Amino acid sequence: MKYVFLAILILVIPTAVFWYTQTTPNTITLNPSLASSSNHSVENRFPDLKPKKPEFSGPRSELSTQDPKEGDTALLSLFDPSLVPATSSFMGNPLSFFSYEGHVISFIPIPIGSVGNHELHISFTNGEEMTRVLRVQKKQFPVYNVGIPKKLGLTAPELIQKLAEEKKNLDSILGLQTKEAYFSRPFIFPVGDALISGTFGEIRKTGKDEIRHLGVDFAPPDGTSVHASNDGVIEKAGLDDLYGNMVIIDHGRGIFSLYLHMKLVSVKIGNKVKRGDVIGIVGNTGYSTGEHLHLSVKINTVSVDPIAFIKALR
Ligand SMILES: [Zn+2]
Repeated sequence: MKYVFLAILILVIPTAVFWYTQTTPNTITLNPSLASSSNHSVENRFPDLKPKKPEFSGPRSELSTQDPKEGDTALLSLFDPSLVPATSSFMGNPLSFFSYEGHVISFIPIPIGSVGNHELHISFTNGEEMTRVLRVQKKQFPVYNVGIPKKLGLTAPELIQKLAEEKKNLDSILGLQTKEAYFSRPFIFPVGDALISGTFGEIRKTGKDEIRHLGVDFAPPDGTSVHASNDGVIEKAGLDDLYGNMVIIDHGRGIFSLYLHMKLVSVKIGNKVKRGDVIGIVGNTGYSTGEHLHLSVKINTVSVDPIAFIKALR
């Protein structure tokens, strides 16, 4: 009997420890209450065993998720504020880093169509290195049949052609990388808690043609003011054929927020804005079929879901 008991000790406990270390996500959640509850369940099962922290290479860090979905923003936090990244890469592009509440953080954009495993690598000026793998999950995006507003006077292929031209124009702005980060606080929703009338990534079909919606639509009451999501510098302000009255705010180091289809804009190119400043009023201008605010967020030219992006730092 004693030997059976010993065999159980020898076989079962190491298996359990192995299972725990393999299945516990390599993340420390941003919500401390969730972190402590998951530790509790393990401690109760194995009261004599202290759960081992998974071992990582490199400095102490926290990743908000290792299994992001297409369009998400994963948040990387490095706990040592003196760390200086020398080189970094994720999906072939360098990352941007920010000082935030005594940490060094980076917003990691997860593009649509990037399902699979992707390695994140950073080397620091002190010689340390870190590598993490993000397992990008597929997201189901809804498909809707949507007409083109008559006021545009465009067929679907003409609209798609024009959107491609507009994208080229905007990329010259969105490719800017200031050395300075203009913000030091979390981002906010530009029209409060308004209802969402269009989601990020949904596909809008007109006949055979498909247009991917690379932002989120809010439907606040008419006349609602639009507020800057965070501090930054106005890079574009004015009327555009497709996007209507629009504003682009550069938040620094490759992060931009775009506000489209407004009734009017109340800022000018070059203005510095603070989080919450009024930049315009909700409207129905350009490629739009009703009053709403379209918000897009770009991180190093990658379009991400603005809702997930804003929530990443909260
Ligand atoms: Zn929209």
